[in-house]
Amino acid sequence: MSEVSLDNVTKRFDSTVAVNDVSIDIDDGEVMGIVGPSGCGKTTALRLVAGFETVSEGTVRYDGEDVTHIPPENRNVGLVFQSYALFNNMTVLQNVTFGPKMHDVGKEERRDRACELLELLDIEELADRNPKTLSGGQQQRVGLARALAIEPHILLLDEPMTGLDAKLKQTLRQELGQLLDDLEVTTLYVTHDQEQAMSMCDRIAVMNDGHLEQIGTPSEIYEQPANEFVAGFIGTANLLEVTIEDEQVSFGFTELDAPGPQRVDGTATVMIRPDDVRVGEGPVSVEITNLFYQGEHIQATGLLPDGQKLTLRLDRSLGDVTTGDSLSIAFDPDDIHVIESTR
Ligand code: ADP
Ligand code: MG
Repeated sequence: MSEVSLDNVTKRFDSTVAVNDVSIDIDDGEVMGIVGPSGCGKTTALRLVAGFETVSEGTVRYDGEDVTHIPPENRNVGLVFQSYALFNNMTVLQNVTFGPKMHDVGKEERRDRACELLELLDIEELADRNPKTLSGGQQQRVGLARALAIEPHILLLDEPMTGLDAKLKQTLRQELGQLLDDLEVTTLYVTHDQEQAMSMCDRIAVMNDGHLEQIGTPSEIYEQPANEFVAGFIGTANLLEVTIEDEQVSFGFTELDAPGPQRVDGTATVMIRPDDVRVGEGPVSVEITNLFYQGEHIQATGLLPDGQKLTLRLDRSLGDVTTGDSLSIAFDPDDIHVIESTR
């Protein structure tokens, strides 16, 4: 496996800038996610790493070596796409030995390698089956085994869960996350689904409109989003306009201490996560306008005294809450994150 990097990479399709001056360093064995809304350039970034697209500007490196102008067939990448694209006219074993065969690996070695991978992925008993007869989860494992059989520099996954039902997605997310962790394979995982990325990746690159907005661990991105876009895309965020003076955040309806690290004076936008709103205590009253049942929690929308909307999470232990009720709330100073203004 390898370290893989995009250095100031730009990709233009005529007037569209699909990837705009993006730099991402993926460490050896790291699982890097790229998340962002549809059309933000995720697939293009992955295709640039694989060599299926040529860069307009910038450099792609594997282990420090410039591979920018090396064609995809000579880059040795393992690809897994949404439908796994398994060959249904071959057995599972033949699917897995196919790549090494194309790379002129000898018959015995490719068979050994495939059996080892099937064992590692716990699907050795499926070796003689036709992929058509397998469950979604089994097919995903075969897809992974096939991609790994060529001993790639990097494993590239583009929306591998698309088209699966919600329940299966959740199970596979845990399984695949664990597998990628165990395999210690350098991986680039592209998804529009921030929950998948948060639960499976060591670090996440958040893209928007071709730009890289932030790169960091899931908790860094969740707790210290770099801007309003990241705050809103990753999870649910309350963004409130405040004034800050002498480390005092003024919401216009109460005063609280400002968080330490980012000292700002003047007006700012702060972010408070719904699960950080303390409900049932404190000086501020919120009038509940909407309730959404979400299994273990109830997500509610309320109006602050100044008319700004606030999303909060209600625990079932609060008992029945209905729209029109007033709840007292408080914010812990540590949970008030100052967001720099966006570009
Ligand atoms: P994502 O995977 O995040 O949905 P893509 O990387 O597929 O986004 O696309 C990013 C942008 O580049 C989009 O505006 C898309 O229309 C454009 N694009 C992608 N591939 C091509 C292409 N081959 N020709 C022209 N435009 C393209
Ligand atoms: Mg895509």
